[in-house]
Amino acid sequence: MHIARTLLPFLLTSFLSGQQGPAPSTIAAPPRESPAAVARYIKVPAAEYILLENVRVIDGTGAPARENQMVMLHHGKIEYVQAQAADFMTPTGTVMLDLKGHTVFPGIVGMHDHMYYIARPNLDAMGHSEPPLIVPQMTFTSPHLYLGAGVTTLRTTGSVEPYTDLNLRKEIDAGRLAGPHMDVTAPYLEGANSPFIQMHQLADADDARRTVDFWADEGATSFKAYMNITRAELKAAIDEAHKRGLKLTGHLCSVTYPEAVGLGIDNLEHGFYVNTQLDPGKKPDVCPATAGHPTLAKMTPQTEEGKALIGLLISHHVAVTSTLPVFEPADPRHVQVQPRVLDAMSAPTREAYLITRNSEMMRASADKELAVDRAQQYANNTAMERAFVAAGGLLMAGPDPTGDGGVLPGYGDQREIELLVEAGFTPVEAIKIATLNGATYLGRAASIGSITPGKNADLVVVKGDPSKKISDIENTEIVFKDGVGYDSQKLLDSAKGRYGQY
Ligand SMILES: [Zn+2]
Repeated sequence: MHIARTLLPFLLTSFLSGQQGPAPSTIAAPPRESPAAVARYIKVPAAEYILLENVRVIDGTGAPARENQMVMLHHGKIEYVQAQAADFMTPTGTVMLDLKGHTVFPGIVGMHDHMYYIARPNLDAMGHSEPPLIVPQMTFTSPHLYLGAGVTTLRTTGSVEPYTDLNLRKEIDAGRLAGPHMDVTAPYLEGANSPFIQMHQLADADDARRTVDFWADEGATSFKAYMNITRAELKAAIDEAHKRGLKLTGHLCSVTYPEAVGLGIDNLEHGFYVNTQLDPGKKPDVCPATAGHPTLAKMTPQTEEGKALIGLLISHHVAVTSTLPVFEPADPRHVQVQPRVLDAMSAPTREAYLITRNSEMMRASADKELAVDRAQQYANNTAMERAFVAAGGLLMAGPDPTGDGGVLPGYGDQREIELLVEAGFTPVEAIKIATLNGATYLGRAASIGSITPGKNADLVVVKGDPSKKISDIENTEIVFKDGVGYDSQKLLDSAKGRYGQY
C-alpha cells in the first residue's frame, strides 16, 4: 500500500477512517504501482476501498439524479451506492473523498472516437488545400484528451494506423500509457474510388472477406464500412464479421440505409445524415456527389419515408450513432469556438482550423440558400434521432473528430452530450445515450455504462450539476477507470498546444 497523504487530491478529507496507521490484515492485495508515465496523471491511486461521499449521482440509466449519495468502490468495482448516512462504518484504510458540490456519472462510452486528425496540405487563405486528404494519427494527444474529458471506453470507428491502435490498446491495458479502454476498429472497408489515400480499396467480395478475417485475427474487435463499398462487398464483410461474433457499422453513401439494413448491418454512423435512399439519380453501388443531403432534406419523422425507416431500423435492431459536433457548424446557433479547443491545438493546426472555419462561414453568408438548407438538415437529423429513440431505437454518441477541424477528442464527446440536450433530450437521457447505450451495443453492459453495484468503477467526477446545467459535464476533475482516479486537468494540459502535431 503506497498512498502518501501529500500525493492525494485536495478533495481527500481523510485518508484513514477509524484507526491510524496501516492495518495489513484487512488489506487483501496491495494495489499495483503504476509506471511513472502513467503515475504522473493519477490523482487517486488504486486502493482496496475508495468512498465517494456527499455526491450527486447520475447513474447512466436515464433515472433522475440522486442527491447526497455515497458510492463505495472496492478493488476497482462499484460496491454500493446509497444515501449519505451521518454515521456509517467503512473498512480500515478506506480512501474517502468528500465530493460536496460535485456530480458523478458513468465514464463516457465514445462510439465514434477516432485517433487521428484531419490535415489540409498547404491550405491557403481562401480555404483551398492540395490533395491528398490526409489524417495523421494523434497517438499521444488523443488518448489523453479522451480520458481527461471523461471517456473511459471508446470505439475507434475506422482506423488508419491499425497497428498503432492495437498496440496502444495493449499499452493502455497493461497500465504503461494513460488512455481509455479501446474497441479497436479495423481499417475502413472501402470500395473503389475512395477520396482517402490511407484506405485500402476492396477489389471484390472475396477481398472483403479476407480483409475482415485478417484484421479479426490481428485483434480488431469491430469493423466499419465506408462510402464507396458495394452491396456485395458489404454483405460479405457483414457475414464474415458475424461469423467471428463481431459487429460492423458504416458511414454509408454507395449503399442506402434500407439496403444496409437488409444486408444485416449492426449500426449506422452520423445519425440520418448519410442515407442516400432519396438522392436524385442514385445508382446502385455508387456514392452520389450529393452524399445523402437531398434525402435528409426530405426526411422528417412525420414523412412516410421517415416513419418507415425508423420502423425498419428498430425491427432489425440496428443502432444509430449520433455525431452532432461534426455537423453543428451547419446550425446558425453554433458560432462560438471554445477557447480550450483552440488551446489544445498546435499553432499550425489552429491557423488551418481558423482559416477553414472562416472560409466556410464566408461561403455560408454568400449563399443564404445553402445556409438555410444546411440548418434545415441539422434540424431534420436531430428530429429523426429523437423520434428513433422515442420509438425504442438504440442511439449512441460520438464526436467524430474530423470535419472543419474544431471537433476534438474528449471535448467533442462532451459537446455531443450538450448538443443532444439542445436537440431536446433531457440531460439524464443524453448521458444515457453517451454511456449505457454504447456499453449495451458493445455487449459490455454487464460491466460498464452505469453506476451499478458490481460494474467496473469507470466514473467521471465533475463540479456542478449536469442534470440542471449540461455544460457542467465540462468541469471534469477526476476520471476513474477501473477504480484508478486520473487527474483530468493534468491529462488535458498534457495535450495543450500539441493536438494536430502528435
Ligand atoms: Zn468518422
